[in-house]
Amino acid sequence: MERPIEFGADIIIHSATKFIGGHGTSIGGLLIDAGTFDWSNGKFPGFTEVNANIGNRSFVDVAGEKAFITKARFQVGHDLGFALAPFNSWLFIQGLETLPVRMERHVQNAKKVAAFLAEHNQVDWVNYPTLESDPQHLLAEKYLPKGAGAIFTFGIKGGFESARTFIDSVKLLSHLANVGDAKTLVIHPTSTTHSRLSLEEQREAGVTPEMIRLSIGLEDAGDIIEDIDQALAVASKVRL
Ligand SMILES: *Cc1c(COP(=O)(O)O)cnc(C)c1O
Repeated sequence: MERPIEFGADIIIHSATKFIGGHGTSIGGLLIDAGTFDWSNGKFPGFTEVNANIGNRSFVDVAGEKAFITKARFQVGHDLGFALAPFNSWLFIQGLETLPVRMERHVQNAKKVAAFLAEHNQVDWVNYPTLESDPQHLLAEKYLPKGAGAIFTFGIKGGFESARTFIDSVKLLSHLANVGDAKTLVIHPTSTTHSRLSLEEQREAGVTPEMIRLSIGLEDAGDIIEDIDQALAVASKVRL
């Protein structure tokens, strides 16, 4: 949904584990070198010192503007041995075939769910920059013109207890720690992914007790909203 190289990024590190795989089945990633960074500027000896494995030349000598990706593949990758298993590669390639259509649906659904939550009286805040009310809205229009993806957080009224009850009350949504799946996922970061951090450390990481994270899937948007609505209703009763 974003094209970082057009905005000046030199290197993109992208998780294929999420939307490219699309079904939460494989772990993998992509390293993309725009070939725009000057590795011979004196600050990166690993690129300019000679290396016996490449004929006593440096990566800048051997590969020029492709020095970074060449070192990543022929030294780091070679020495550390990170290699994707063929079956996982196949799952990712298959995922790529449907990525554009899936992303359109992910974003359409996420926009509808975010708009629904923004209007809900059991919800304190929604952090989704595509919403016109969001302080980052103009930046999102510039950097994410096709929409800000399908992963976002909202704050439920009633704090920690209310959030836990919400998680326990959803029926269609899956309580899982991953994101970018075909199905809609929900988690309460304070009590799960970030539970080993102190409250102060959580706050520094942007995690608060009332925060719920959603990764909106490909289901019918009305079904997703209906499930969230009934779980918010259950959570609000606990609050009273
Ligand atoms: C994304 C994710 C991973 C894998 O992370 P990479 O992006 O592939 O480095 C592992 N576990 C969970 C729960 C995740 O969401």
